[in-house]
Amino acid sequence: MEKVVIIGTGCAGLTAALYTGRANLKPLVLTGTMPGGLLTTTSLVENFPGFPEGVDGYELMTRLQKQAERFGARVQFGTVDSVDFSSRPFKLQVDGEPVLAESLIIATGAGHRHLGLESETLLEKKGVTYCATCDGALPMFRNKPLVVVGGGDSACEEASYLTRFGSIVYLIHRRDSLRASHIMAERTLANPKIKPIWDSAVTEVLDVKQDKVTGVKVKNLKTGAESTLDCAGVFVAIGHVPNTQLFKGIITMDENGYIRPVEGAKTNITGVFVAGDCSDHVYRQAITAAGMGCAAAIDCERFLSGLNQ
Ligand code: NAP
Repeated sequence: MEKVVIIGTGCAGLTAALYTGRANLKPLVLTGTMPGGLLTTTSLVENFPGFPEGVDGYELMTRLQKQAERFGARVQFGTVDSVDFSSRPFKLQVDGEPVLAESLIIATGAGHRHLGLESETLLEKKGVTYCATCDGALPMFRNKPLVVVGGGDSACEEASYLTRFGSIVYLIHRRDSLRASHIMAERTLANPKIKPIWDSAVTEVLDVKQDKVTGVKVKNLKTGAESTLDCAGVFVAIGHVPNTQLFKGIITMDENGYIRPVEGAKTNITGVFVAGDCSDHVYRQAITAAGMGCAAAIDCERFLSGLNQ
């Protein structure tokens, strides 16, 4: 039986692994489908404390994993199929195999929200992407018109970044003003290579028949007018969705699926803790996720030592 199972190997999960490892709990850390988490898709991380020149996202996560392993964490490639928290030890199915755990830390992170269009799904990785820093520099996007969808800080950041590569960046937003922070919005709108398209929604990504992005169909939500915009890439930046479906109906969540801790990192199930973006829709930074991972590990360790007294 495992003393601690940690689900997720982003900043939260691996920091929890480091701390529970150092507490001699030999945590089993399950990667899920994205080992290293979303940060591995970032190029340079400039705001993680301690790296004055910045650090490559993939390298940061590799180092964090090595650091946790040095203290006894066992990182295993695997996806949790189901959980049974009705009694302790908790029962998990991991790729079809049963795993018993005295305690659990959920650090499953969040994924990119999708527009929900069939053409979007069919053209993913063929011009539709969710990460400008990962894909923006690809030859297919160079000196071509590009589209960013969204009106928050992420959309502004993506649009600004893409002006390095695209001939023009259309920022398509469903309202007539940006939701982004004042400074980001001001900077974005002042950029001559960014052209906002207000009150509009992308209704289709073209062209599925050609198996690549050639444009988007856009609908003006105020007038109902429809038009087509030529572009080589569609960068969707409309927020995130927490990866918490597995715990629906078991762990207390808000209406958007973010796990709601009851106190510190404790969830409504005694012995189950939470950390990182799956419970944070406000900060969502690498360093806040790491801090939450540390807190969850400390709460978990205290819970386990309480059991043995
Ligand atoms: P966000 O603030 O939730 O913004 C999402 C945007 O997408 C909103 O403008 C929203 O429109 C739009 N949207 C949502 N669903 C949509 C749909 N189905 N179709 C079309 N548009 C849709 O998300 P975010 O920009 O990812 O930011 C998340 C958090 O991270 C924020 O707290 C942000 O400040 C932070 N962040 C900070 C930085 C930075 O400081 N450098 C960078 C990135 C993110 P509405 O406006 O109509 O709701």
